[in-house]
Amino acid sequence: MIRENTRKIKVGNITIGGSNHVVIQSMCNIKTAKVSQVVKQILQMEKEGLELIRVSVLDFNDAKAIKKIKERIHIPLVADIHYDYRLAIMAIESGADKIRLNPGNLKDENQITQVIDACKKHQVPIRIGVNSGSIDPILVNENGGRVDVDIMLKSLDKYIKIFENHKFYDLVLALKSSDPILTLNAYKKASEKYSYPLHIGVTESSFKDIGLIRSCVGLAPLLLEGIGNTIRISLSDPPIEEVRACKRLLNELNLYDNYYTLISCPMCGRSNANIMKLSRKISQYLESKKIKITVAVMGCVVNGLGEGKHADIGFAFNNPTICTIFVKGQVIGTCHPDQVIENLDKYLNRII
Ligand code: SF4
Repeated sequence: MIRENTRKIKVGNITIGGSNHVVIQSMCNIKTAKVSQVVKQILQMEKEGLELIRVSVLDFNDAKAIKKIKERIHIPLVADIHYDYRLAIMAIESGADKIRLNPGNLKDENQITQVIDACKKHQVPIRIGVNSGSIDPILVNENGGRVDVDIMLKSLDKYIKIFENHKFYDLVLALKSSDPILTLNAYKKASEKYSYPLHIGVTESSFKDIGLIRSCVGLAPLLLEGIGNTIRISLSDPPIEEVRACKRLLNELNLYDNYYTLISCPMCGRSNANIMKLSRKISQYLESKKIKITVAVMGCVVNGLGEGKHADIGFAFNNPTICTIFVKGQVIGTCHPDQVIENLDKYLNRII
């Protein structure tokens, strides 16, 4: 089911699903019981645009810490539970806004029922997070040892039935794999079958250089087809990079407001400036602005003006000491290369 037609699920002070925008998620990489450090990390990510944070709950101390963390953050918190249903109940009682269960390692129906009861009592939704690496071995064996789309869907379907049999429908579904094509196909099939909102992500996608590409391969086609209500780009990098990556991907797909688009040339023999350095400087400046704007920076005027004409404002280097400034394709003047940020700032001050 496409994004707009999915069920709406309330998670703390936000709603996932229906016509709501795609919600950006990440996960803390610090032990949850280390409250101050976790809060600091979450607050940094909040500033960057994070809308939903997940934390691991490995023991009683982690579950108890949720209450203290929640007092100091402003976005809903998801408790990530594996193996022990009692931790799910503790996390819910401690104030978790949503819990994530893994069908591969929490299977006892009686235990799941107790979690469902706690969720009903506290109006907490559940994310069923199927992970290709932890599918029930019995199901994998029945499938000839193969982990494929069908087995991921089978695992999900079996689990959903437990919740639906208990008339619990506040579900968000996820079917992640580190294989982007498997992930893509699994979500496509799930979207045809279920009306629950989908949390999309390619899991364990490695560090930025590799993970961004792998995640885009799996997630961009889904988002373009209107699939996916929340997103995480999992990286072996600081979690704040995951938030930036989500914003950038959503922005490129016209699914995010208040973010910049930077057009910068790769440089060639005609280049009159170090665009590699300057484009990073401009990017750093724009990150803090939280505004929808397209900025171009080009090494020469031969192609620069033409290729950057869609930009709100652009800079193209005539020579190492003179840079042409153009606004929506029209030349408005020149400046010294050292004054690019200053002129960009002047322009933003005029339009904000
Ligand atoms: S804009 Fe100019 S310098 Fe940059 S790649 Fe194109 S031709 Fe080369």
